[in-house]
Amino acid sequence: MKSLLIICDGMGDRLTSGKTPLEAASTPWMDKIAKEGINGIMDSVRTGTRPGSDTAHLSLFGYNPFKVYTGRGPLEAAGAGLTLKTGDVGIRCNFASVKDKKIVDRRAGREEYGLQELANDIDGIEIDGVKTIFKKCPGHRGALVLRGTNLSSEVTDSDPEEINVGIRKSVPLDDSEEAKFTSGIINKFTKITTEILEDHRINEEREKLGKLPANAILMRGSGIKPEIERFEMRHGVKGACISATDLIKGICRLVGMDVIDVEGTTGHVDSNIKGKALATIDALKSYEFVFLHIKGTDEASHDGDFEAKKMMIERIDKEVIRPILENIENTNVVLTADHSTPVSVREHTADPVPIAIYGDVRTDLVDKYTERDCARGDLNRICGRYLMDILFDLSNKAKLFGA
Ligand code: ZN
Ligand code: ZN
Repeated sequence: MKSLLIICDGMGDRLTSGKTPLEAASTPWMDKIAKEGINGIMDSVRTGTRPGSDTAHLSLFGYNPFKVYTGRGPLEAAGAGLTLKTGDVGIRCNFASVKDKKIVDRRAGREEYGLQELANDIDGIEIDGVKTIFKKCPGHRGALVLRGTNLSSEVTDSDPEEINVGIRKSVPLDDSEEAKFTSGIINKFTKITTEILEDHRINEEREKLGKLPANAILMRGSGIKPEIERFEMRHGVKGACISATDLIKGICRLVGMDVIDVEGTTGHVDSNIKGKALATIDALKSYEFVFLHIKGTDEASHDGDFEAKKMMIERIDKEVIRPILENIENTNVVLTADHSTPVSVREHTADPVPIAIYGDVRTDLVDKYTERDCARGDLNRICGRYLMDILFDLSNKAKLFGA
């Protein structure tokens, strides 16, 4: 049997006017998975721990996030397509607008005009023997890799995450020479890039067009490249990932999955999820394990928009779950979420998520895919870190423990 993991980001919820978005939505195909499958609820990281999407996915792929997670920076950088080496530090960046040494917009007006050219011109700077690799990411974002010897991620951000203040000076977070050295590199990078960007032709053009200049780089979330065992080594199965989110693609790249890009996918509620479903069906022809990630449910949750979340769930049911169930065979399918993002809270919470596994399973009595229905199923309440073990056991890929 092959294995398919479908994660609808932040799909779990609490009750709003007596119902969760999953309960309010019409989802005949998700319900088919529940009815013919085995169901439960899941703490993706640990009971009571609020998961980030990154730590949740690491856990669901079978890793201990408390051991392997080193921050968001290296995962974003890997997701942006930068290849990280051991000892590299990855950092998330924003193009920002600074006037009279004060940040007036942390996102340069969210205006992409000319950013690619600016990114090219600040890529490949060498500072005190450290190579800096900069790549433009969607929107106003960028990713930075510091490559050299003796680097540390124990440094503070240059991004103050507020406006009307100056760019922060990065300082070391411990007494090591490495942290002192790395914060020095970050501060020099701020200075050098500001000089390049300030008088750049693109920024003159931006100002002529009435746009804010993109004349500074803000850095945050630095992390050393995590040392993670390859997915294939850990589970004995080669995997492919289909996701529109750099953070998730980065995790998948770092564990050695193949990342399949699909045109028209945005990570928003308007994404081409139908295309993702077709790519999934296709990938299952050549991979033993396929992971499909859909982000729109989380986005609607952060917006606190119950109706948008309900509609996104109905779209997933019709445009993703239906074609997949109608077109695959000999495959165990897991349908779950990486965490709950209740629309009433607008943030990730530790509420367990619903999970259903369909395929070669011992079917239980649950017949609807919702948080409260799944909780009555035979999987009971599981920890996300054991999900791959459960799935690969069902798919007959597991090794015997003992004799
Ligand atoms: Zn998430
Ligand atoms: Zn989220």
